[in-house]
This record gives sequence, structure tokens and C-alpha cells, in this order.
Amino acid sequence: MRFLSADLIFPGHTEPLANAILVVGPNGVIKDLLTSDDENAPEGSRVERFNGILCPGFINAHCHLELSHMKGVVAEKTGLPKFITEIVSRRNENAHEKQEKIILADEEMWLNGIQAVGDICNTTDSLETKSNSRVEYHSFVEVFSFDPARANEVLEEGIRVAKAYRNAGLKATIVPHAPYSVSEQLFDGIRKQQQPFPGPISIHNQETESEDEMFSSGTGELVETFKGFGIDFSNWNPQKKSSLDYAFAQLPADQNVMLVHNTCSTSDEMKHVESLRNDLYWCACPSANLYIENRIPNLPMWLENNAKVCVGTDSLASNHQLSIFEELKLIQHHHPQLPLSTLLQMATLNGAKALNMDNEKGSFQQGKLPGVLWLKNVDLSSESLASASVQRII
Ligand SMILES: [Zn+2]
Repeated sequence: MRFLSADLIFPGHTEPLANAILVVGPNGVIKDLLTSDDENAPEGSRVERFNGILCPGFINAHCHLELSHMKGVVAEKTGLPKFITEIVSRRNENAHEKQEKIILADEEMWLNGIQAVGDICNTTDSLETKSNSRVEYHSFVEVFSFDPARANEVLEEGIRVAKAYRNAGLKATIVPHAPYSVSEQLFDGIRKQQQPFPGPISIHNQETESEDEMFSSGTGELVETFKGFGIDFSNWNPQKKSSLDYAFAQLPADQNVMLVHNTCSTSDEMKHVESLRNDLYWCACPSANLYIENRIPNLPMWLENNAKVCVGTDSLASNHQLSIFEELKLIQHHHPQLPLSTLLQMATLNGAKALNMDNEKGSFQQGKLPGVLWLKNVDLSSESLASASVQRII
């Protein structure tokens, strides 16, 4: 049994506690969370004391492990349409390094305090690493094709990949890539796969201005990019609505839905979709948004709309590291008015809930296996993370 104490313990499910004692059993199971004057509190010599904050392991709600070999390959700040073109045309470069880079990325996440990951995959490339990892994964098997004639073929491949993950004992669901890359026929097929593959859903949303332009008027840089890939838009009519409205109406019911990026979502759009279902999560990937579009999501506005916010790194193709703690530092740098407890909530319990993993991860509640992180050199009076670092204790 270990007894851990710190200036501040952030349990996830309650307000931060000063000088509390976290009791952790063998294998990292949370046994109790005691105040220092609790009659069950152990004598001082048995307590390990940490300067700073203890919090549960982080949840990386959005990653693409299988793009790990593309670190540094795509130029920064060129916008999503050009980024997509580069990813599609260069994704098989250095393919011989793929497995090695996936293993390194998984290890990097563990060392950076990441306990669980919502990972987008198009193939089984990351299956072996996930099977052997200390990190828990939910694999979002992503399908895309805007050509209705290809819906069945694309879905069949998604089913094959999802079955492979599930047969290996891993969590997997079949999910749409983005509004602009999924036909109504393919959405239909995805909905029908909710019964055989139940679980959370994720979709990239409103990452670039031209995404809404495509749906409202049928024009813009994204449409031009897809025409460049040979996609035929002659039988497709713009929907005269936002990309979010198009996709939202076609998402499976009765499952958690995570909308990823949302950098262009307006307050009115958030209010509208929040009023339609209560199992929505909004995932911020600020480093990737800076890398691709050179913009930062408006998190204070998200929170004003009572959005349940979680945090993701996106892939090494659009980030310099896979660290939720670095994402929190970046959010705090741009939005210093947000309380540290709000940031930690996003990075822990909210992500665990979005991935349906809150029975085990995300908070210091009895019986859970959330991991324990030590946040060092946090300025506790200003809550500044600028000089802080993270070290895994358990
Ligand atoms: Zn992504």
C-alpha cells in the first residue's frame, strides 16, 4: 500500500483537496482518498510527500498512432485542404519505419502521463502495439468516401479492421471521418454497424472555413482539393446548411459522440446541437490547430455553452509531441482566465467519459486504475504551468 500526499490533489470527481492523502493498493488500484486529519490517516512517516499537484493519468481523446512516421513531413500553417493533400499523397513515404514509430509514439505517451487514448485508425497497423501497451486504447476505425457507389466496399473494409481489433480483445467502433468525406449512404451503413460494434463515436468537425462553404454553396478550397483527387461532384448538390448540421442528423443515436477540432464552430451552432443530445463531447487539439490552420479553438466560448470538453494531441503528422500536458500549457497560454481545475478536468475525467472508460480511468475514485501523475513546479498561487513538468508516479 502507498500513501501519497501533495500540496494539492486533483481527484477529478470532486474539487481539488489540499494536503489530502491518496491511498493506492497493489497494481495501482485506488483504495481511498483521506483528509490529513482523518482517523484512518497513516502516521506521517509512512506518507510519501510531493511538492505540487497529484492528478489522475491523462486521457488523450484524439490521436492517429498510424501516422506517427509522418512527424515533420508536412509543412506547417498551410491550411487543412493542403494538409489533406500532403497526407494522402505522402502517407506511404518511409512506410518501413511505421511499426518502429508507432511503438515509440505509444511509449512517449505513457511517459508523458497518458493513461488512455481515443485513436483513429484506418488499418490494423497499430494493433500489435496496442495489444502490448500499458496505455489503454479505444480504436475509432475511421471510414470515408464521398462517392455513394463506394459506400459498401468502404464499410466492408472498416468492418474487417474493427473485427481484427475486437478479436484481439481491444475496444473498437466504426466511425465517420468528417462531414465532407462521408456520403449519406456511408453514414447509413455506419449507423447500422452500431449494433455489432457498440461504443463511442468520433468525427472531425469544422476544422477549416471551407468545410462549411462546401455544404452551404458547393464551392471553396476543400471542394477544389477533392476535385483534384478526381472526386466527381456533378451529382451532388450543396445542402444549404452547415457541415455540422449535415453530419449531425446522420450520427448514430444512443452513443457518446465526440466532435473533434471545432475551431470554426460558432456559439449558436454549439447551443443548437447541445440542445439535441446530451451525450456530446467537444475535443480540442490546440497544437494541431496551430500546426495546420494557425488558429486556436475558442475554449472560453465552448465552456460558456456548457460543452463537455476533452483534449487530444492529434497525430505526430500535425504535432511536435504527444503530450496532453503540453496541450494544457498551450491552452493556458492562450486562455489564462481558465481555472487550472477546469483544464485538468478536461484532460482526465471528461476524456475518460467520452471514451466510455470512466469506470476505470479519469479520477481517484475507489476501485479505479487511473494512474497517478505528479505535476512539478506549478506556480500554485497563479496556477501557472509555464515552468511545470509532469512525472508519472504510478
Ligand atoms: Zn484527427
